[in-house]
Amino acid sequence: MKVRCWGARGSIPVSGPDFNRYGGDTTCIEIRSKNDALLVIDAGTGIRRLGCRLTEEGRLDLTLLFTHTHWDHVLGLPFFKLLYNPSARISLYGSPGLQGSIAKLLGRVMAPPLFPVPFVNLPSTIVSREWPGDVMQVDSLRVRRIALSHPNLGAGYRVEEDGRSFVFLTDNELSHPHRGGRSFEEYADFCRGADLLVHDAEYTPEEYPERLGWGHSHVDDAARLALAAGVKTLGLFHHNQERTDDGVDEMVRRCRAVFAGAGSGPVPDCLAVAQDSSFDL
Ligand SMILES: [Zn+2]
Ligand SMILES: [Zn+2]
Repeated sequence: MKVRCWGARGSIPVSGPDFNRYGGDTTCIEIRSKNDALLVIDAGTGIRRLGCRLTEEGRLDLTLLFTHTHWDHVLGLPFFKLLYNPSARISLYGSPGLQGSIAKLLGRVMAPPLFPVPFVNLPSTIVSREWPGDVMQVDSLRVRRIALSHPNLGAGYRVEEDGRSFVFLTDNELSHPHRGGRSFEEYADFCRGADLLVHDAEYTPEEYPERLGWGHSHVDDAARLALAAGVKTLGLFHHNQERTDDGVDEMVRRCRAVFAGAGSGPVPDCLAVAQDSSFDL
């Protein structure tokens, strides 16, 4: 599978010379199966450019999942070109049992007077589907989910194909249990042996105490999860809106320091996920 990040910023999009390398768009992840089936997670502002790319390619069918519906994860949807293409077909999955109907939620915010085009009047075919059980299959991609530890709930995803695995856990606070969230050990089990774990690392340990309960992790906790789960690569994600490129580089150094202090065994690689970066798994 191929994983591509269209936005890695948390909370609100940013722009300017301090954010050129890691990017300013909010969460949107594209996953392509070996047969070129298309799975997209979240519709942050990054989905606007994905829509332009898909239009160029003439790609009109995709499955769209949501981790949750905080603004930064849905903000780009009204500007996703495929919504306005009568030939486009989008299978929509929210987090049933966690946040109710995703279509209903989107219909509430994508409606006048908040937005001129009502969600229900979009010309594309949008099929709102129920999550089928523990596992969902999208072509050759096998998708499982786990509840996030986050205000207002949400879901993280593990995507597998031919023994390779990608885990996406953003907006997940490892040191503070939110209603419906899971324990550190349960998250470690969910991430076990992943080739790539992309995890929320919004804060430094020094910044974290003042933001306890806000639903995000600090970089040392993300590093400890990667170690406990024995993942191959950890990608830091949901970069804080105030974190400059140099500040994000510093987060990677801190993560590697946690790994270096872990003893002599194999440790994961660490990187910070940059907008427009891609991973062949
Ligand atoms: Zn977020
Ligand atoms: Zn959130």
